[in-house]
Amino acid sequence: MISQKMVELGSKRSVIREIFEFGKKRAAEVGAENVFDFSLGNPSVPPPECVKETLLDLLQNGDPVLVHGYTSAQGDAKVRQQIAESLNSRFGTNFDAGNLYMTVGAAASLSVCFKALAVPGDEFIAFAPFFTEYRVFVEAAGGTLKVVPPNYEDFQIDFEKFEAMIGEHTKAVIINSPNNPSGAIYSEETIVRLCRILTEKSEALGHPIYLVTDEPYREIVYDGGKVPFLTKYYKNTLVCYSYSKSLSLPGERIGYVLVPGEIVDFEKTYAAICGAGRALGYVCAPSLFQQMVARCEGKTSDISVYKKNRDLLYNGLTEFGYTCVKPDGAFYLFVKAMEEDANAFCERAKKFDLLLVPGDDFGCPGYVRIAYCVKTEQIERSMPAFQKLAETYK
Ligand code: PLP
Repeated sequence: MISQKMVELGSKRSVIREIFEFGKKRAAEVGAENVFDFSLGNPSVPPPECVKETLLDLLQNGDPVLVHGYTSAQGDAKVRQQIAESLNSRFGTNFDAGNLYMTVGAAASLSVCFKALAVPGDEFIAFAPFFTEYRVFVEAAGGTLKVVPPNYEDFQIDFEKFEAMIGEHTKAVIINSPNNPSGAIYSEETIVRLCRILTEKSEALGHPIYLVTDEPYREIVYDGGKVPFLTKYYKNTLVCYSYSKSLSLPGERIGYVLVPGEIVDFEKTYAAICGAGRALGYVCAPSLFQQMVARCEGKTSDISVYKKNRDLLYNGLTEFGYTCVKPDGAFYLFVKAMEEDANAFCERAKKFDLLLVPGDDFGCPGYVRIAYCVKTEQIERSMPAFQKLAETYK
């Protein structure tokens, strides 16, 4: 006998992967330029020049034994110090190498945090719409995921429903801002209110409720939008970061967990993060890429392309009669389906070679996600298809 749960996880393709595969099949039939695949959150903008320059320099001039060798399990100390200093200069914080644990992207950062925190019976709360893998990671760590229904008005938090969900088994709350799939950024007002509730409830329950903040889109913001830096608002915060989106490096798998010094029982908590990394085999993140990100920290790919895409898509779609909240960050537009069943809507969209993702798996039925991290040309070419699709509902 092997784990039935793992067999299921490994056999059932995600809806997004399913659509992606369909897109490849259609592209072979009608030509790639006629298939408007908006399914994947794969950055469409190349990494900034510093990525290539630093990698070349490391490969040409670095000591290959060091460049490709094991680092400390939690990541190279110098790399972690450089990242901490970059964060301090950007956010006015006071971190050092000892606050960071290098990982293979946000997926690993989240898994490490959940594993470090969870004891049997623990509940983790996420807000819909949410990144579907949270459930997989939380359950793998032995916890249960509870989901606060969406606030459809602006995709901020429905505080009433949230408060009602907190109980003695609540171990942590997971947030993701800028958000996949809504593109919403939690305002400072939302964050202050959230942190006040967490503080009050932690006191009332007699144990801390942790805040796990998933931030792969931290720098992908438009129109001067601000993303509050959470450790400054709530001490029991664990930050999960990834360079997948900011530096367009999703295939290279590099990120970190940040444990602020103020967190309750810092030494124990950091040890639990290291222990979880060890238990999951997430030790010694890729050395070459650790060293590269230390030097490129704070830089981003050309975000202006995403902004252009967002504007084209948002303006076009609202003109055709679609309803959506204008995204302030990330690279997704979350649109209301033109019929109740978003799956049926996505099936109809396929007839126009528009590949969209139903919101059901994100905890938001009746909505669809459009990933606009694509070539601007694809958006321009897809507009008539979006218009025709809307017309079929008139
Ligand atoms: N969290 C969110 C909200 C994401 O959208 C993604 C990837 O799309 C991840 C985590 C995983 O990121 P990574 O590729 O760094 O593991």
